Amino acid sequence: MRKPFIAANWKMNTDSQYAVELASGLEKAIADVKGVNVAVCPPFVYLQSVAKSLSVDGNVAVGSQDVYFESNGAFTGEISCEMLKDVCCSYVITGHSERRHVIGESDELINKKTIAALEAGIKPILCIGELLEEREADKTSQVCERQLREGLKGISEEQLAEVTIAYEPVWAIGTGKTATSQQAQEVHEFVRGVIADLYSKNAADNIIIQYGGSAKPKNTKELMSCKDVDGLLVGGAGLKVDSFSEMVKIT
Ligand code: PEP
Repeated sequence: MRKPFIAANWKMNTDSQYAVELASGLEKAIADVKGVNVAVCPPFVYLQSVAKSLSVDGNVAVGSQDVYFESNGAFTGEISCEMLKDVCCSYVITGHSERRHVIGESDELINKKTIAALEAGIKPILCIGELLEEREADKTSQVCERQLREGLKGISEEQLAEVTIAYEPVWAIGTGKTATSQQAQEVHEFVRGVIADLYSKNAADNIIIQYGGSAKPKNTKELMSCKDVDGLLVGGAGLKVDSFSEMVKIT
């Protein structure tokens, strides 16, 4: 049985006060919710205050939106897995489409970050997904397969148990255009097939695959009803206690 997992990616939003209010408000709003893993991913500078505002045994975990693969040294501006652990981060997003397409991260770099997270004991959420022109050129499977194979290179089946995959069609992120549940299911099933091919049927049956791309309270039930959709990675709707807690409850 795969336990649903919903995470909010706050991106470059909030301020120090709102970040803490949002996290603690969410924790309160979902205090009675059981059977779902929940995480919030604030900007680096608010990770520590958000983590401190949450109860240690509460049901909201903290994740980072990015990480660097080296553990320390002359890497100006970068943040290591050790630093993330030091501020109680248990998840990290790797390969988000904004890092791939705005910042220019390669599959190779994303793979290094994913491996570094696993080696440090932080659970990576590895994002994959096609651009609009790639979908229109019928290249969705090809792109997702490449991102999966390259992103997971060198990762053992045992380590894979700590990895979440987030399928986020780039054309659906922040655009208000959600993939239909059929489009999401098709790719999620394909992703599970690639995992079976790379690892085993058991690994494929157990891996958590989130959908991301304009997920909101209104479409949560339909997306979550898909056989291979195990959770959501949420941007915009994760910035309000009301909408995100509603999604957690539906999930
Ligand atoms: C995201 O940033 O990962 C995302 C899915 O954003 P949104 O929900 O706003 O489309």
